[in-house]
Amino acid sequence: GDNAQKAPLDASKLTYTLTKAPRPVPDEAVANSGDETIATDHMVTATWKASTGWGTPELKPYGPLSLMPTASCLHYATECFEGLKVFRGYDGKLRVFRPDRNCARMVMSAGRISLPVFEPAELEKLMIALLSVDGTKWLPKERPGNYLYIRPTLIGTQSQLGVQAPKEAMLYIIVTFLPRLDSPPGGMRLHTSPEDMVRAWVGGFGYAKVGANYGPSLMATQDARRRGFHQILWLYGQQGECTEAGASNFFVLWKRKDGKKELITAPLDDKLILDGVTRRSCLDIARERLAGEIEVTERKYTIDELFEADAEGRILESFAAGTAYFVCAVSQIHHRGKDINIPMGPEGKAGEITTKLKTWVGDIMYGREQHEWGVVI
Ligand code: PMP
Repeated sequence: GDNAQKAPLDASKLTYTLTKAPRPVPDEAVANSGDETIATDHMVTATWKASTGWGTPELKPYGPLSLMPTASCLHYATECFEGLKVFRGYDGKLRVFRPDRNCARMVMSAGRISLPVFEPAELEKLMIALLSVDGTKWLPKERPGNYLYIRPTLIGTQSQLGVQAPKEAMLYIIVTFLPRLDSPPGGMRLHTSPEDMVRAWVGGFGYAKVGANYGPSLMATQDARRRGFHQILWLYGQQGECTEAGASNFFVLWKRKDGKKELITAPLDDKLILDGVTRRSCLDIARERLAGEIEVTERKYTIDELFEADAEGRILESFAAGTAYFVCAVSQIHHRGKDINIPMGPEGKAGEITTKLKTWVGDIMYGREQHEWGVVI
């Protein structure tokens, strides 16, 4: 039928136009100061039309895009994206971490906002092609332990103001610097979301990585920052279910009433939270390596349950988990005038289990442990 004639996204067709004006790599201090406007020399783009499918993907010099002022993404938030790091390992190799999960998530997000879908493996191949060209220069071998940030983006480009699923779209991939987002000294302090705001709702799109989820969350975050907190702990519903911390998933390690140690995080089934790659990895590795020691649970739990556990001295550790901050210990939750102070490890560092998870997952990212999650470029 009709579909058979439409070209799929095909990374094997990638064309290469290398820059004639390569830029110098900033020295390590500037690189790590985190100017996210500094991108590498090249980007990958691919355009899509409903009538013909995907065009030939192109690797070309990094630079501005050209869009009509009526482009769909500028008006109707037909935009989704991904974010993952490329790591320079201590063994000198470049790695991405579970990129298949980011690519699958991108396709899921695209579908949610009526943008074209594609084979996730093709996006992964395009990312790796770009990193093969820019990675060695921009993430020098002499700088193990460093990373860059990969941002695949998909936008509706059709220049028509009528509200409809765009018939034209563009996929692009850029690689940028990112600040060293080391855990704040003394731990991350969270402020619960304002009573009159939710980040996501049942039936909504909080589980998709669409731009429309982020702009509206900035107001609450800015307000919390002004009051001395780092991120919002987003609560949901009458009961105040704990969902996410900023743009990270949120975990608590506590003792249950029966005395058993449990690592708990919000579930995916209500589609209120993003299926974070860091979240998934912490859960997987905790289930594998801490079996018998701690129970690992994905279920709804509320802010009141945390207050009750705190009053009974049952809260052991807490952390936020995501690409940007990685695994970051949480030391305080402020909710409607009351605080939960969460124990930290020695010298204000992360506690024992948080540190173990961070070390295990981090060792795979930086090639200290060879593991199928670490994909060598
Ligand atoms: N929740 C939200 C809302 C996010 O934007 C992110 C960052 N992608 C995460 C959680 C963490 O996901 P990941 O571990 O895949 O970065």
